[in-house]
Amino acid sequence: MPFSSLGFSPALLPAFLRAIGDKGYRAPTAIQSQAIPAILLGRDVVGSAQTGSGKTAAFALPMLQQLANAPTGTPRPTRGLILVPTRELAAQVGEAIAGFAKYLPQRVKVAVVFGGVSINPQMMNLRGGADIVVATPGRLLDLLEHNALKISEVSTLVLDEADRLLDLGFGEELGRILELLPPRRQNLFFSATFPPAIEVLAESMLHDPLRIEVQAVPETKPDIAQRAIQVDASRRTQLLRHLVQTEKWERALVFVATKHAAEIVADKLRKVHIEAEPFHGELSQGKRTQVLQDFRIKAVQVVVATDVAARGIDIAQMPVVVNYDLPRSAVDYTHRIGRTGRAGESGLAVSFVSAGTEAHFKLIEKRQGIKVQREQVEGFEPLETLAPNAADPASTGGIKGKRPSKKDKLREAAARAQTQDK
Ligand code: AMP
Repeated sequence: MPFSSLGFSPALLPAFLRAIGDKGYRAPTAIQSQAIPAILLGRDVVGSAQTGSGKTAAFALPMLQQLANAPTGTPRPTRGLILVPTRELAAQVGEAIAGFAKYLPQRVKVAVVFGGVSINPQMMNLRGGADIVVATPGRLLDLLEHNALKISEVSTLVLDEADRLLDLGFGEELGRILELLPPRRQNLFFSATFPPAIEVLAESMLHDPLRIEVQAVPETKPDIAQRAIQVDASRRTQLLRHLVQTEKWERALVFVATKHAAEIVADKLRKVHIEAEPFHGELSQGKRTQVLQDFRIKAVQVVVATDVAARGIDIAQMPVVVNYDLPRSAVDYTHRIGRTGRAGESGLAVSFVSAGTEAHFKLIEKRQGIKVQREQVEGFEPLETLAPNAADPASTGGIKGKRPSKKDKLREAAARAQTQDK
């Protein structure tokens, strides 16, 4: 079904088609063709979809149409509120919506607010109101306390990556925000996974929602080749360098367990003339934006990132993702490999598996319902056979728990010490 048959109003359709044409979309993705008609009719929607499925356009385009029909005022009342877990995702969603709105007859003001940067410019930007606000929950509450905006006239609420919002501990903030919203509103709820806490939240918020399931990775991503390379933990950096060079990876996103490891691994790669940058939560927002920009324009070849920071990175054509340290959970594995092979591109996900992390990787395979053949690279065949005690502690941090336990923290500390030796 083409975009023109999804129910957009004839008055706005040309502007939308031009904007999505600019982005190179040819046909709606699965979630777009299912969600857009329902959202345009005012229904609540709960979508089980990853980043990469095209969900941003699925909620943003109908929201823009609804805005066009809503009465305006001075200051502009905020009609659309989108809550996201990270600043990167906030910036990305804000940018995407501004792009979709570019050719609309009336100007749409989109404000993006997130923590970790000064609140004053955000308060200034909200003067005069904003039609759509994209926000991380903590900063939104700060701004509400400063009376910098009102959300009592919100007609559409979007929770984007709802599972991550809860994972990152925003549950309480969400509750407070929900209380400040008008009870009659449209709710759009997107999440990659639906553990019980998410089901409860969805149940409490949604009215007769349309349920949309876009199949999870790996079914929807047959174009992601998954490889598992056996290597001793201590030789991973050398192997990474070897692969970048021999397999001519133009761009790779490498996941590590700690900020410290991100710094160390990037440093080692730079020493052998591979343009690499660390990417983690302790970097300033300016630095993070710079790294992503450089990555986009290929001035940086390898970004070495921690999970939380990497969430929401959207780089078209990200060909390779590497699990240098294995993710803690199967869900994180899905999120990580979902960074590649987005919207039809093909991608490669490589996991380094050492004797110490073999059991953990097996558990991820089991939870994912996949089996990845182990391979070895000539010159990097592992020598360790028995899992030494905490051979690779950073990557074995307990698959069940979402938050690091005391034990996980100890393991992380041990990993830091170990990475220093690399
Ligand atoms: P999202 O899941 O919204 O983060 O989108 C993932 C990526 O897919 C982004 O780079 C979008 O620009 C792209 N995308 C979204 N919809 C389409 C479409 N219909 N055709 C091609 N690419 C798309």
